[in-house]
Amino acid sequence: MRVRKAVALFGSFLIFLVCFMIYLTLDLTVFPNRKTSIVQEFQDNKWLHFEGRLKQLENDLNKHHEEVGEIKQAMKILVPSTDSSISSGKAKKINDNFVPIEPPNTNRMPNSEIIYNDSCSFQINSVPRTNIQMLDMYKTLKFDNPDGGVWKQGWKIQVDPLSWNKQHKLKVFVVPHSHNDPGWLKTVEEYYLSQTKHILNNMIVKLQDDPRRKFIWAEISYFAMWWEDLEQDQREIVKRLIRNNQLEIVTGGWVMNDEANSHWISIMHQMTEGHQWLELNLNYTPKSHWSIDPFGMSATQPMLLKQMGLQNMLIQRVHYSVKKQLALDTNLEFRWKQIWDNTGATEIFTQLMPFYSYDIPHTCGPDPKICCQFDFKRLPGHGLHCPWKVAPQPINDVNVPQKAEMLLDQYRKKSSLYKTNVLLVPLGDDFRYNHPTEWDVQYHNYQKLFDFMNSNLKMHVQIQFGTLTDYFNAVRAEKPLSDFPTLTGDFFTYADRNDHYWSGYYTSRPIYKRMDRVLLSYIRSAEIMLALSYLNKKPNSKWITNNAAGLTKAVSEARKALSLFQHHDGITGTAKDHVVVDYGEKMLQAIKSTQNVIQHCANLFLLGPGADIPAIDIVHYNIDDIRHSHDALPEKHTITIGPELSIKRIAIFNSLPFARHEVVSFMVSTPFIEVLNFKNKKIRCQVSPVFEYGSSMSNSKYQVSFIANVPALGIVSYTINALLEFEVPRETVYSSVKIFNQYAEVQPPTGFPNIHVSPSASEFTIQNARITAAFNSLGLLKALKIATHTVPVHLDFAKYGARYGAERSGAYLFLPDGDATPLHIESTIVKVIEGPLLSTVIVQLPYVQHTVTLFNSPGADGLGLQIQNLVDIEKSSNFELAMRLSTNINSTNQYFTDLNGYQILRRVRFAKLPLQANYYPMSTMAYIEDKTTRLTVLTGSPLGCASLREGQIEIMLDRKLNQDDHLGLGQGVTDNHPTRHIFRVLLERKTHRCETTSDDHPSGFPTLSAHVASQTLLNPLVLMLRTDDDDLGMLPAYSPVTTDFGVDFTLPSLRTGLTIDEKNYIGVVLQRQHLDLCFADRILLQQFPLSDGKINISAILPPLEEQVKLNKSSLSFLHIKEGVDIRSVISMCPMDIQAFVLKR
Ligand SMILES: [Zn+2]
Repeated sequence: MRVRKAVALFGSFLIFLVCFMIYLTLDLTVFPNRKTSIVQEFQDNKWLHFEGRLKQLENDLNKHHEEVGEIKQAMKILVPSTDSSISSGKAKKINDNFVPIEPPNTNRMPNSEIIYNDSCSFQINSVPRTNIQMLDMYKTLKFDNPDGGVWKQGWKIQVDPLSWNKQHKLKVFVVPHSHNDPGWLKTVEEYYLSQTKHILNNMIVKLQDDPRRKFIWAEISYFAMWWEDLEQDQREIVKRLIRNNQLEIVTGGWVMNDEANSHWISIMHQMTEGHQWLELNLNYTPKSHWSIDPFGMSATQPMLLKQMGLQNMLIQRVHYSVKKQLALDTNLEFRWKQIWDNTGATEIFTQLMPFYSYDIPHTCGPDPKICCQFDFKRLPGHGLHCPWKVAPQPINDVNVPQKAEMLLDQYRKKSSLYKTNVLLVPLGDDFRYNHPTEWDVQYHNYQKLFDFMNSNLKMHVQIQFGTLTDYFNAVRAEKPLSDFPTLTGDFFTYADRNDHYWSGYYTSRPIYKRMDRVLLSYIRSAEIMLALSYLNKKPNSKWITNNAAGLTKAVSEARKALSLFQHHDGITGTAKDHVVVDYGEKMLQAIKSTQNVIQHCANLFLLGPGADIPAIDIVHYNIDDIRHSHDALPEKHTITIGPELSIKRIAIFNSLPFARHEVVSFMVSTPFIEVLNFKNKKIRCQVSPVFEYGSSMSNSKYQVSFIANVPALGIVSYTINALLEFEVPRETVYSSVKIFNQYAEVQPPTGFPNIHVSPSASEFTIQNARITAAFNSLGLLKALKIATHTVPVHLDFAKYGARYGAERSGAYLFLPDGDATPLHIESTIVKVIEGPLLSTVIVQLPYVQHTVTLFNSPGADGLGLQIQNLVDIEKSSNFELAMRLSTNINSTNQYFTDLNGYQILRRVRFAKLPLQANYYPMSTMAYIEDKTTRLTVLTGSPLGCASLREGQIEIMLDRKLNQDDHLGLGQGVTDNHPTRHIFRVLLERKTHRCETTSDDHPSGFPTLSAHVASQTLLNPLVLMLRTDDDDLGMLPAYSPVTTDFGVDFTLPSLRTGLTIDEKNYIGVVLQRQHLDLCFADRILLQQFPLSDGKINISAILPPLEEQVKLNKSSLSFLHIKEGVDIRSVISMCPMDIQAFVLKR
């Protein structure tokens, strides 16, 4: 734009003129004293009472809503729909005179309740009927762990061989398997080359030797690697082995995912990666799930598997006392369903393995000493032995009668724990069957035993090798599923023996747990932007949508890196150091490549229709999140602007399906700036100094913050201009800075002459429109005030040591040396930055740089207190660091933690359990509440948490443990790195007498605030800096969304790269969250409007051609279901997940 250059020139001339005048007069008083007035304005605001502040918030909100409305209207002009009569026009720029053609469509009436119809199985007003409820079982279990004899954690099983006869035979399926971790002691590639490749190569040969032989395989990450190495004729053999049911793919996920730390969207991705690979290469659909090693079982997993069309599941690592109870009641097989499900719609048939482990000594029956003798890899000469000191013997004609009787006795005993005469006997272990002779000894010896048993009619047994689904089919043939009990709840926290609770891995290697969430958010943004680009028809270039290359390939590779990390030794932090580095490097690469996809798509959006497609190798935007290395803290760009180069263009993308009005911050090289919105109108911004070391502040780096208004799935441009000091408009506001406990003098940075420095400290407050936060003289939170209610909320940090003895805490186990002891803090410098948009308190404590921020925005960031802990425990030893929030909330012994960011379960702190057993995974949030008040903590990284005292929530931040915990890893956790965790703390009062769930409901639901604050925390606005500063007539904004969803709907995935019957599809996944509205007031419902349970998918997509087809599908897109009119309204029940495929 020539006009802009003219303005800039004229501006420069003015600047020169003014400088010259200053030089002449040397009278600095000509500068307007703007700071005083604006600081004063803020000070005045402070004294407005609460209602006044809320009124202000409401006004602000309307203003921000209007702006988003204008963007949407502008979109209708700029990006005409295919069937629209509006002329496409040449308009490319919205100027100040832009007037919306109709009132913005943002004033939908807010719902004050969650609406759903009677046909939903969802029930919260009473507890849905179930036979087994896990929290109820926990209340009655003694957890006493008596010695059960050979079955240590059980009892002496006695069976009567006469229970079986000719009509009533024991049907045994021996299922050979090999558990292949995609990374643990070796990286996935190292394992593949040294073991997995050989296992699979041998499989082809050895299964062909005898059609009675069977084998199951779970990890598609390995299978896909191997497939690449196969010749065409070998691939045909594999297909044949699958066709004739010798080989079954179980679960079919990319990995066998962790269930504590993984986010459900990542679990969905890792399953989809595997399932799509199977569909594409083998035209195969898995039926049964196999999860033998993950360390505790989540109730989210059966929900996802059911949605993917799987019919059966097998699980293994469950607390030994729970196993024993279920075994006593012959309830080891059950219909696992969701906790709110009143109709059984979510049920999936599940078997729980009864004994200690999935290895051969613990799978044939209760006595490991006997079962070990039937692990023929432990025959002399194979390098393995039986710890019970009785070695196996080769089966021959002489010993077969006695051996068969011995083995059958174990089978009969195991079978007595189940309701049917069908018995599952897994036969395998970690990385088994890697040598041809192992195949020979196992299959030969077992076949001899089978032949003997089957021909000896008095044994009344029918035994064979089987697949997992062979077993489940036989069970289903024998008994209707309705004969099995229903079960709700989960299986955390896992203990394998004694007080060995596996709650350490909820926190181990937290830097990578945080990285996992960052990568997930980048993948969401990248896949949504790419799908929208594709639907926009803009990119005709192959490099954008080609599945085998280009941006779709880049996103697909990133999904694979994320999927790999969901492995139960990945996100759990339980792999060897060099394997951890390997995961980290793969995720770093994935973050970089999704960032590249995002910046390309941002450019495509803003190029407008009809523009030429730029080349693939151009960087149009730098994402403002620099990552130099997998183990380094992310950094922000410093925007270098000044007299030479005075303008920086910025673009901000919102990956959520609702409009956002949130504070965003950038680093700039000068404090003298202005910020312009997409209409080139000056907007309010706040400039703050940046602390470097201690109390010293940078003279070359400042933080500028402003409220960005970004429509759903939209992108909006902003501009930052450098000015001379006297040009700074009144919209630019400078933070006030106070430093307490500071003895030495502080050099004020340019632009901040009035830094308040005090050698002492007193208590102080910061506030926004909703909340006032009070701090003690150490700068730690003391109380929160909402409306007229003040609640003490004491924040402190505490440490655990590792207990002494032979068994100590490690990567998996949390074995503390007692209760936590508070970190001793004597005095610390407290830095307080205050302004109209945000106020921040920064304190440096031992091991933690603790930063608390209150955003004064009408968005989700303004609903609570944001806490950033930069944790560094590198120099400690046998040390675990926790953050605690202590309140006077009468939470009794109850607390609530989420599972995989999908659902929330009620927890009870049990005195009969050790401290570490009361720790639970906190994937995205935890809360405590009483009749009036709820405190929710939201987290940006999955971590362990507990409520060890009434009114308290405690979150483990990092752990450094110098020793192995004897679970196979063979090392401690000592590779700690400085890690930045982000939390949001929400204090809410019930607005009226209201119960969302019945008192004894084992489930909880997030409040409206907690839901939107968590969504925005996990999916931050993507901040982008344009690399060239020429105005190329770019669009100022882009938004495909005509009508926002209600905030109860989320868009977990909108993606390209699906190939079904050799055609490209777009995948769409929608979820509807149930919310606890007891804490929502009128303004909140106005800020975050709810849906009426219905949704129109076309409302979030660019205008589509008539021929576009939409079908419902299973969650991993394997089962394509009925067609739906894309323009029709779709109803969804609360807690439902629904997938669709879209074909152009
Ligand atoms: Zn494993």
